[in-house]
Amino acid sequence: MTPLYDAHNHLQDDWFAPHWDSLDHDLRDAGLKRAVVNGTCEADWPSVARLAARFLWVLPSYGLHPWDAGNRSPHWLDRLRAQLAADPRAAIGEIGLDRWILDSAKTDDPRLTGLRRAPLEEQGEVFLKQLALASTENRPVSIHCLQAFGALEGILRHVNTPTRGFLLHAYGGSVEMVPLFAERGAYFSFNGSFLESRHGAKREAFQRVPTDRLLVETDAPAMSLPPGRARYSLPPAPDGSPINHPANLRAAYAGLAELRGVDVETLAAQVEENFDRFFLA
Ligand SMILES: [Zn+2]
Repeated sequence: MTPLYDAHNHLQDDWFAPHWDSLDHDLRDAGLKRAVVNGTCEADWPSVARLAARFLWVLPSYGLHPWDAGNRSPHWLDRLRAQLAADPRAAIGEIGLDRWILDSAKTDDPRLTGLRRAPLEEQGEVFLKQLALASTENRPVSIHCLQAFGALEGILRHVNTPTRGFLLHAYGGSVEMVPLFAERGAYFSFNGSFLESRHGAKREAFQRVPTDRLLVETDAPAMSLPPGRARYSLPPAPDGSPINHPANLRAAYAGLAELRGVDVETLAAQVEENFDRFFLA
């Protein structure tokens, strides 16, 4: 059986720490070969590095997430450069643009407690510096975009991107924009939460993604699957929010295979090729 690849998650989250040994077991059991673990702020980059040193299947990725852009230190870019220099395999991410935190998020959303919400222009400056670094070093880069796809498309049209391409993680843009991004070198990762009935538009977009640009992700601990789909579970976080077990990756593969009208094994072989080409070549 072809092994599975998680193109995007956040297993460095402190909450996971007491569960790492059992997660390692469950992930091997589920057939995982590699997972890209994404840092989001300066404070969690060392945790990503520690996880990569402990588990061979971890591919580390370092970046400043748009939610964290407003709280960056004056030395953030030097720190990022140092983190990347320490590991030539490392990717860049998660980076991006997020209009949702500015226009749609509730003022008391617990995930945003203590964060200064950087305006889109400031997010763009932080994003561009990291994208330029990815281009210069030709590193794989994972891009987050929420309610800002027009702005993202405008940026990508005018700047250099890595010759290996870039990943639009948990792609939630329109069907029409898929070919525009694909022409510029985009890969698109499918998330298990898209199997919820309300995400019909996202599923439609994934039917149109070129076969050689498809990847699969969990975004664990976020993005839980619909109840009937999840095979593995973990206790909820202290604030009561659900935790997505990363071994539910297999269920995300199954959902995407159904959507594309192929069997899981065919999809898995294609995703392996795509993952190797984008992240490891
Ligand atoms: Zn993420």
